[in-house]
Amino acid sequence: MYRDKKRIEQYNSGVWECNICKKELQFDAFCKVKSYWSGLDYMCRKCSTERRLKWKRANYWQNRANDMNRRASINYLNGNDLELIWKRSAHKCYYCGVALEYHQGDGNIHFDHVINGLNDKDNLVISCFRCNTLKSDATAEELIMIAEKIVAYNKNKSKASI
Ligand SMILES: [Zn+2]
Ligand SMILES: [Zn+2]
Repeated sequence: MYRDKKRIEQYNSGVWECNICKKELQFDAFCKVKSYWSGLDYMCRKCSTERRLKWKRANYWQNRANDMNRRASINYLNGNDLELIWKRSAHKCYYCGVALEYHQGDGNIHFDHVINGLNDKDNLVISCFRCNTLKSDATAEELIMIAEKIVAYNKNKSKASI
């Protein structure tokens, strides 16, 4: 295996150069990569984090799709699907109609499964955090049932208090 002489000298002197920022840093400033002879990544943790964040910003929808695909077992989505759903929603929550902005961060926009678990673009709607939490895992039928029980409970309570 070819090993760069400068790299070996560096390694032996206890420092390691980051390929991105070109700084010579201590070993613990680098992630460990077992498959490399040095056992150290070629970019420092800081550069590696920055690169990941930059990628996330530039590939917002694909990144969201990756997150969703990791949790799902069927129907792989891609970034274009999610962007399409976002555009289709007119940038509003499907349930309450509140306007949403995607650049405010991940926590702001939720992709809600109308039917639970089916990771298909035709089964997804844009939802705000509040509606997403409120709906949780319940199906439409379950939500109607819960709402009816709340109404019935309140009716009985007001009758009893008379
Ligand atoms: Zn660096
Ligand atoms: Zn909402």
